[in-house]
Amino acid sequence: MALKTFVAASLTLAAFSNAQSWQDKAVSVDPTAECLAYSYAPVQAMISNYPTIWQIANLQTADTNAVALFNTLNSSIPQIAPKGTPMGDFSNVTPTYPATDPDCWWSWHQCTTPKISGIADDVTRCPTPNTWGLTVDDGPNCSHNAYYALLDYTHYCNQQDYLQQQNQKATLFYIGSNVFDWPLEAQRGLADGHEICAHTWSHRYMTALTNEEAFAELYFSKKAIKDVLGITPQCWRPPFGDVDDRIRYIAQALGMQTVIWVEDTFDYEYPSLPSTTIDQNYQNIINKALNGTYDTEGILVLSHELENFTMSENMKWFPKIQQAFKWITPLAVCNNNTNPYVEQGYTYPNFAQWMSGVRNGTLLAPTASVNAPVSLPFSSGHAGSVSTSIPYGSPTATAGVTGTNAAAPSNSSGASSLTAISTSLAAVLLTTLVGLASGAVLLL
Ligand SMILES: [Zn+2]
Repeated sequence: MALKTFVAASLTLAAFSNAQSWQDKAVSVDPTAECLAYSYAPVQAMISNYPTIWQIANLQTADTNAVALFNTLNSSIPQIAPKGTPMGDFSNVTPTYPATDPDCWWSWHQCTTPKISGIADDVTRCPTPNTWGLTVDDGPNCSHNAYYALLDYTHYCNQQDYLQQQNQKATLFYIGSNVFDWPLEAQRGLADGHEICAHTWSHRYMTALTNEEAFAELYFSKKAIKDVLGITPQCWRPPFGDVDDRIRYIAQALGMQTVIWVEDTFDYEYPSLPSTTIDQNYQNIINKALNGTYDTEGILVLSHELENFTMSENMKWFPKIQQAFKWITPLAVCNNNTNPYVEQGYTYPNFAQWMSGVRNGTLLAPTASVNAPVSLPFSSGHAGSVSTSIPYGSPTATAGVTGTNAAAPSNSSGASSLTAISTSLAAVLLTTLVGLASGAVLLL
C-alpha cells in the first residue's frame, strides 16, 4: 500500500511538473521518464465529448452538427456490407468474396483504384523519381524523442547526442487515442516540421465497422488533431491498409485523402518476425532503388513509431536509404502540396524547393483549443454528395462528386477528466494478432 501511494504520488508530481509544454516533454531521451503519464488541461476539458480512447468510436458523444452530417451522408454511402471483425478476422468473408473484387478491398488484393466513380484513387507513391516517401504510423509514441531528434535538429542542434541529425521531415500518421494520451508529443511532431495525417481513433480494421463507427473513427481522429495541434489534416491511412470503397467514400466526405504505400518494412511484426527479416526487408527496398526500379517514380514506404525497435530500425537504416535514394521526403513535399491543412499559415516546401535544400516552410506554433470547430467539406443540409479537394495525387483523384463547402461544426466544452493511459495500442495490436492467428487469411 505504501509503495502504491508513493508511486501514485510520484506520478502525480511528474504529471503536473512536466506537462506544461511540448518543449518540456521533448528534452528527455530516457523512455521511462518520457512515458510517465501526465495530465494536460485542454485534453481534460474536452475528453468527455470524445469516445473512450482505444474503444471503437461512435457518435454518442459527437456534436449535433457531426451527427447531422452523418445522417445526411448515410443514405449515399455505398451499400457494401461490413466485413469480418474489427480485429481483422475475415475468415467468414474471404471464402466467398468475389474474385472480381467489387469493393476495391485493399486487404484482398491491394486494390487502390476505386470501382465506384467519383471516389479518389488512393495515394501510394511519390511521383518524383528516386524518392523514399517517409511515412511513419501509429504515433505519437511517448518514447519517440530520440527518433524525432535524429530526424530533425531544429530545436536540439547543440546537444551532442544528436550528431547524426538530418533535418529530415516525415509524414506522421497519428492515432486519435494516442494524441489524447500524448498530446505534447503530438505537438512536437508538428513543431518539428513534420506533416501530420490521421490514422483513425482506435486503430481497428475499418472495413469491419458500421457506417456510423467508420465515420466516427475518422471524424474524431481529425478532430483530436485539430483540438490538440491546431491543424485540420486532409489525409489518413487505414490501419493495416484495410479499406474498401465504402470506407473511402466516408473518408472523402470528411475531406480526407486515403493514403496507402508501395513498400512495407513489416517492422510492426517484430518480434513475431526476427530482426534479421526486418533488416532484409529494408535491404530489399534499397536494392530496388539501386537496380533502377524507382528511377521514374518514387514510393511511399510504411514504417512505424510503434515502439523502440521500429524507430531504432529506421534510424539504423537511414544512412543506407540516403545513399540509395536521391530524396527522402514527406508525402506533401513529393506531391508539391505546400498547404496540406485546411488552415492557412502552415506551408511546406514544394519538391523543387526541397531539392534546393529548403526543409522548412511556415508553421504556426502548435496550439490546443478546446473543441475547436472542425472544417468539413460538405454541409449538413446537402443531399449526401461528396465534395472535397484532394490535395494529393493525380488528376483522377480530383474527380469528386459535387457538393458544397459550408459546414463548420462546433460544440461546447465538457467536464474535465484525466487522460487515461490504461489501454494501449499495444493491447489493441496484440488482440489483433490473436484474431489473425485464429484463422484469418489476412493481412500484412
Ligand atoms: Zn497503424
